[in-house]
Amino acid sequence: MTIRTAIVGYGNLGRSVEENIRNQPDMELVGIFSRRAELDTDTPVYPVADIDSYRDSVDVLFLCLGSATDIPEQATAFAASFSTVDTYDNHKKIPAHYEAMDEAAADNGNVAIVSTGWDPGLFSLNRTIASSIFPTSQQNTFWGKGVSQGHSDALRRIDGVKKAVQYTIPREDAIEAARGGHGADVTGHGAHLRQCWVVADESEHDRIREEIVTMPDYFVGYEVEVHFISQEDFARDHQGLPHGGHVITSGTLGGTTNAVEFSLALESNPDFTAAVQVAYGRAAYRLKDAGLTGAFSVLEVPPYLLAPESLEELLTRDV
Ligand code: NDP
Repeated sequence: MTIRTAIVGYGNLGRSVEENIRNQPDMELVGIFSRRAELDTDTPVYPVADIDSYRDSVDVLFLCLGSATDIPEQATAFAASFSTVDTYDNHKKIPAHYEAMDEAAADNGNVAIVSTGWDPGLFSLNRTIASSIFPTSQQNTFWGKGVSQGHSDALRRIDGVKKAVQYTIPREDAIEAARGGHGADVTGHGAHLRQCWVVADESEHDRIREEIVTMPDYFVGYEVEVHFISQEDFARDHQGLPHGGHVITSGTLGGTTNAVEFSLALESNPDFTAAVQVAYGRAAYRLKDAGLTGAFSVLEVPPYLLAPESLEELLTRDV
């Protein structure tokens, strides 16, 4: 059995999904659907406007579109024609997205697995599992070390900044406090360091540093480090998209303090997000094959459906 997959949207995530599918024993990639006519890939590329004519040749469609506007505007139309897996990450709007995808998928006999990836995704699963274990719990999520696109954009908007990237780094003392059951004292501002790497002319450094540390919302209230570096060092050391973090949950049980921690250290955010999305693609296929339809969050998908191995093999290997 080979699962016939396709990708819609070819940015960082789309490229990583394409690469990931090449390594799957039970999947093939039928093509990539894009709004652009030409993409730099060997995979067949089709106009997204024609996607409905591929309904019968694709089992699972990976939605690799932006969360800001693409997914809210387009995802339900894809779910009406295909079983889909997305990584929609606007946390506050996930319940509404789930509801809209549920209706579109169920009405057409499809499955839509929503908001996979790592946060939302694997972090969400861990938040639910860990907090279910304790009668009362304290839960903290720390992000990083990772590139914050929003903060990097804010740096690049400052006059005189030629190149810039901002890493969000969780503070070790805050992580230790959460591990020790004192996470309630950890605040968002105190929990993360904002580290900026900037390319600019030397005569501008003092002014730019001042503009960064006094920028409201983005940097005021945080511990901020500003490092000025050369174009060459920037090109060598700051091209990647690392990310990751920790979900730490602690609780008291019969007078003892116990903690559960789930951590990720990702050298490439899109490569890892894609890997999770593709594993959920296998689950989408199997759920539909079992006669189920509608939307599923990561909380509702049994973990064995993600694995290429059989349940029997997993019972021996992992349980
Ligand atoms: P990109 O900005 O790289 O791509 C988004 C879309 O923009 C693509 O689908 C593509 O559509 C279009 N696009 C990409 N490059 C170009 C270009 N050069 N010119 C014109 N259009 C372009 O976003 P990412 O792939 O990095 O991320 C996608 C989403 O994944 C994010 O919005 C984020 O919400 C989500 N995400 C979720 C995570 C999770 O843990 N749940 C983690 C990380 C990301 P088209 O091919 O049609 O032009």
